[in-house]
Amino acid sequence: MESNHHKVIILGSGPAGLTAAIYAARANLKPLMICGNQPGGQMTITTDVENYPGFADIIQGPWLMDQMQKQAESVGTEIVHDTIIDIKLGSKPFECIGDGGKTYKSDSVIISTGASAKWLGLESEKNYMGFGVSACATCDGFFFKNQEVCVVGGGNTAVEEALYLTNHAKKVYLIHRRDKLKAEKILQKRLIDNNKIEIIWNTKVNKIFGETNPQKVTGVELENLIDGKSFKLSIDGVFVAIGHSPNTALFKDKIVMDNEDYIITKGDSTQTNINGVFACGDVQDKIYRQAVTAAGSGCMAALEVDKYLSEQEYN
Ligand code: NDP
Repeated sequence: MESNHHKVIILGSGPAGLTAAIYAARANLKPLMICGNQPGGQMTITTDVENYPGFADIIQGPWLMDQMQKQAESVGTEIVHDTIIDIKLGSKPFECIGDGGKTYKSDSVIISTGASAKWLGLESEKNYMGFGVSACATCDGFFFKNQEVCVVGGGNTAVEEALYLTNHAKKVYLIHRRDKLKAEKILQKRLIDNNKIEIIWNTKVNKIFGETNPQKVTGVELENLIDGKSFKLSIDGVFVAIGHSPNTALFKDKIVMDNEDYIITKGDSTQTNINGVFACGDVQDKIYRQAVTAAGSGCMAALEVDKYLSEQEYN
């Protein structure tokens, strides 16, 4: 086999991809993992993890990913730091083209490119992105020491971000468009018990405003969805935590996806509509989206690749 021709290429390096790599390497498939532009995936922008089984004490997301990567490498995974900008799945071997122009060929592909944070879609949000607007409290919370910030959303992410931000900010507003939260009850209790947090219910953000020199956020324009009244809130930072979209732009018109662009896999399987191409983790899961479920589906993908490749050899 040519040196750039692999039995299996794994795209993405979160819990799904790394678990697939561990199983594929242990099946002697010598997997090549192409990391993408966020090595370690979304777990690298989390702090405390207390629901990944096997650790009685709280662990850190980046540490967990580092351990998974070391484990994948120690059993024989080759990891390259490249981002795939084009993929050819119409004939075999499959071809992945990196952003530096390098072509990687393979007999099978595991897609584990994950998901990314969604944005509100406001023009003003774009203007202040990186200057007070963020989608990652654990990355940027530190910059708001003793300041006032808001978090937008009502799911687990929003509540966790709000709680985390209380470590830095002096006041955190949680702005939610409904009168109840979607987050787990245990998180809701922690939120309500935290006296640095104030919830603003039934409200949406219409505009983020601020100064230009230096560029910084000074407030948000809000609208109460019950009485339609608009009002302003002075704050220094806006954390958007309204869910995620799958990272599937690369596969558009190449692999069958659903109406939200999640890759469709066959029931009880990671098999996509293309023979030899498998998908695992958040890129095909909009329901569970947990590190442990992503890892589980990564394991399934590697087992299915092994079976697929053995059948190819046999036929
Ligand atoms: P969710 O989809 O669960 O929640 C998104 C929230 O944002 C909802 O409250 C939604 O409001 C709100 N929202 C969506 N779009 C907009 C908009 N345009 N403007 C204002 N608000 C909006 O996303 P999460 O990221 O919170 O969670 C994703 C998954 O990851 C879930 O399954 C969650 O359980 C899991 N998760 C688990 C964690 C853990 O176990 N520790 C931590 C973080 C996430 P509405 O309710 O009106 O739809």
